[in-house]
Amino acid sequence: MARRLGRGTQKSSGAWVMDRNLRRGLIEIAYDTSPHEACGLIVGVGDAAWYLKRMRNVHPNPTNFFAMDPDEQLAVWEEVESRRQQVLGYFHSHVNTPAEPSETDLRWAVPALLSVIVSLADNKPDVRVWAGQIPYEGDIFRQR
Ligand SMILES: [Zn+2]
Repeated sequence: MARRLGRGTQKSSGAWVMDRNLRRGLIEIAYDTSPHEACGLIVGVGDAAWYLKRMRNVHPNPTNFFAMDPDEQLAVWEEVESRRQQVLGYFHSHVNTPAEPSETDLRWAVPALLSVIVSLADNKPDVRVWAGQIPYEGDIFRQR
């Protein structure tokens, strides 16, 4: 499971990502963070995503789990509120498993937020949006 690919150093969290195609941004962040799991917040208005905010994964076992840096989280929530936007959800990546919530993901799920999982397990990356363990029907990544 925990393959060591020699790129184990912790990446800095980086800036806000705003791309016309947020799906592509998520996939780029996931590859850049691999073999660790990437994580971050998805910010928008209503039910439409506008930005991604990549966060540091501070989990002691970042190859198989994620935990967002709490200080960074607090700062982002404050910034988002000051802009009158909302945190719609959070994302993380699975390096070797499908884009489905693990038992741990479900245990720690935040009910009010959507969970987006990016899987790099296959040659073609997979991005799926979840409301708990139920696939989310809406399209938060639609073009504005
Ligand atoms: Zn997961």
